[in-house]
Amino acid sequence: MIEQNPSGRVGVSIRAASKTYGRFQALDNVSLEVAPGEFVSILGPSGSGKTTLLGILGGFVLPTSGSIFLGEHDITFEPPHKRDIGIVFQNYALFPHMSVGENITFPLRARRLPKSGWEEKLAKTLDMVELGGYADRRIQELSGGQRQRVALARAIIFEPRLILMDEPLSALDKQLRETMQIELKRLHRRLGATIIYVTHDQREALTMSDRVAIMNRGRFSQIDTPEKLHDRPASSFVARFIGEATLLPVKRIDDHTVLLGETPLISAHCIPHNLNLYLTIHAEKLVVAGGTGAPTANLLTGTVTETLYQGESISVYLRLASGGDISFRLPTSHAGRQLLKAPGEAMTLELHPEDTIVVADDF
Ligand code: ADP
Ligand code: MG
Repeated sequence: MIEQNPSGRVGVSIRAASKTYGRFQALDNVSLEVAPGEFVSILGPSGSGKTTLLGILGGFVLPTSGSIFLGEHDITFEPPHKRDIGIVFQNYALFPHMSVGENITFPLRARRLPKSGWEEKLAKTLDMVELGGYADRRIQELSGGQRQRVALARAIIFEPRLILMDEPLSALDKQLRETMQIELKRLHRRLGATIIYVTHDQREALTMSDRVAIMNRGRFSQIDTPEKLHDRPASSFVARFIGEATLLPVKRIDDHTVLLGETPLISAHCIPHNLNLYLTIHAEKLVVAGGTGAPTANLLTGTVTETLYQGESISVYLRLASGGDISFRLPTSHAGRQLLKAPGEAMTLELHPEDTIVVADDF
């Protein structure tokens, strides 16, 4: 349900939006309901249609069909400056000849808001992005992280009910990116605004979002919470894109059993009907067999091919007797080292039926 709640937050509804460029279908009938105040990420590889979708939301791209609602209003044909949407572009798109303050107050000018309140708004917004005292600086004098904050300040100064961000942190180095992720989450809580955030970085999407929409060739493969996407991927595309899953081809026996080579595996989840099925294995779900006295179903036996010491853990690579390579980690604790075997030796791992996820290719 799309509603405009008392705090001024607003939901967004993308209804069957499509976009073709000539004969190329960049977006194919995508729909998404974003709740008021929700932080939703659009995650997908380069060229999957993320920026096109954001352009349609922001009013820079006209959809070939479909519509966009902000609260109860159909804004499909509204020009960008009438949309009450703040946007942080991928390259920041700051005006190099203007000062920090002039850049940030630009949306107030574009919206012809009364000048009386500007100064106070500017000071408050600069504080919010921790750039107090920077109003008169030139853009060229700023670091990448500071420019990013200016772009953010410009997007929020007019208190939009929806903020769109297109890979806003991709130009920053890893450390600054992680700091900014925390700051953006803090800002989201403080503003209470609805945020749609585009990224190709799965870790970033999982860390920051209430829900993530996985985009693949102009369509959504799955829209879910980070936890669901990681633990219960709906297709091989999602499984490969999220986390570091290994996919091994399996054959369906019945609703809850597959064959991996000659080894039958039980899944607590219903196995889809499809010719191409894969067992999805996340390293952290594998347990060394015999350690806990737990069930003896779903045993994977193989030969250790390599062990890599990585500080807090040791990565172990295993060639399965049933075919395929998998890897998992042991902690470098005393207990972990007791379980470690040398290359050439055999190991047996358990995969709990709850963690036995079988996926099919999507469209
Ligand atoms: P993403 O942001 O996920 O990298 P885009 O939305 O930018 O993807 O692009 C999706 C596809 O549409 C790409 O194949 C791209 O080449 C194509 N595309 C984007 N904009 C245009 C345009 N103005 N004209 C023609 N093709 C375009
Ligand atoms: Mg893009």
